[in-house]
Amino acid sequence: MEKIAVNAEGHLMLGGVDAVQLTQEYGTPLYVMEEDVIRAAMKAYRDSINRFYDGKGLICYASKAFSCKEIYRIAQSEGLGVDVVSGGELYTAHQAGFPMDKVVFHGNNKTPAELRMALDLGVGRIVADNIEELHLLSALAAEKGVTPNVLLRIKPGIDAHTHQFIMTGQIDSKFGFALETGEAMEAVKEALAAPSLHLIGVHCHIGSQIHEVTPFIRAAEVMMQFMASVREETGVTLTDLNLGGGYGIRYTDEDDPVPHAAYMEEVSEVIRSSAEMFHLPVPFILMEPGRSIVGEAGTTLYTVGSIKHIPGIRTYISVDGGMGDNPRYILYQSKYDFLLANRAAEAPTTTVTVAGKCCESGDLLGENVPLAEAKPGDILAVRSTGAYNYSMASCYNRNPIPPVVMVKDGTSRVIVKGMTYEQIVENDI
Ligand SMILES: *Cc1c(COP(=O)(O)O)cnc(C)c1O
Repeated sequence: MEKIAVNAEGHLMLGGVDAVQLTQEYGTPLYVMEEDVIRAAMKAYRDSINRFYDGKGLICYASKAFSCKEIYRIAQSEGLGVDVVSGGELYTAHQAGFPMDKVVFHGNNKTPAELRMALDLGVGRIVADNIEELHLLSALAAEKGVTPNVLLRIKPGIDAHTHQFIMTGQIDSKFGFALETGEAMEAVKEALAAPSLHLIGVHCHIGSQIHEVTPFIRAAEVMMQFMASVREETGVTLTDLNLGGGYGIRYTDEDDPVPHAAYMEEVSEVIRSSAEMFHLPVPFILMEPGRSIVGEAGTTLYTVGSIKHIPGIRTYISVDGGMGDNPRYILYQSKYDFLLANRAAEAPTTTVTVAGKCCESGDLLGENVPLAEAKPGDILAVRSTGAYNYSMASCYNRNPIPPVVMVKDGTSRVIVKGMTYEQIVENDI
């Protein structure tokens, strides 16, 4: 178990606030985010751009991990850029007053309406994913008389997933232009030839929850090599290299994440040495951490309801949330640390299955979970739920999406209100 803060009453403390008091004030289920943890991660990334790239780069928080107005304000106040993957995220960032020149727009199938919106708002960088999009963007930009900055998403041929990575010639992915077929170079030439596009660089994103530095190093090498080929074939030196996100975090003791600075230092070394080898300038570096900025900052609090002991089989502990607020178990059998927030110092003595309240047998939050003996009315805390929980939430079974509360220095504030039943029927005719 990770180190946690517990007060004299044995209650879990989050951001200096008693978690049990939070549930009394705001109800359950409740998403709690620790602002200091978010800001510290943002700062660590930003500092390493200063340290390893002389400040010539931009960390763009990948906001699909957790998107609401307040997170864009925090990213702005920490001097970060953001990346968005839909019109909805772009709209939210804009509504929060986020500077549009520091936005990177991604997606494998952006709609014409989304691209128009990005052009109208003056988004700083658009990452084109495929040739149809490049043509569409070029036409829309010409129509509007603007020249957006464009990067091309490249498949570097490195597939990094949880504790292992493979390099193959042919990667099966819906994202990006392939290198080995010449598709990527063709796209570069088309983009350079389009008068309404300003091609400035290339992008790659190799996976998520990666606990090794090697795949990032290999990706950086492949991308630098491609930038060298681009200059050789076209005479153009691209300025931007966007290396995506994917840095792993700690969910349970099984995870052993690499510290931010270690990734950054090793990747920066390979970029410098490649630049020297290919006689290229060191590019402007963009990185897009999502999970590693907000993941460990989040804890979800639930109230324990029914408990079913099935002799010789298992014990189900049911909570008042589930796959609606955290679909990651049903999607990927993701592992989490669980504890009772009202008896946080008690050692686990039972092994249980934590079930949600949805009418779906697969609606679980964890199996074979070590936990202190739970009783109805206890507060169950699930750790490291800051990324891809609220942002993936649904109102399946017409359960309202819970509120999000930010805690810091002993105080709490609502940053996303809980959904109401009225809102659930609001769009029904
Ligand atoms: C999802 C995504 C990220 C963030 O990934 P994390 O694993 O959350 O760091 C960054 N860039 C792109 C293009 C993505 O799709």
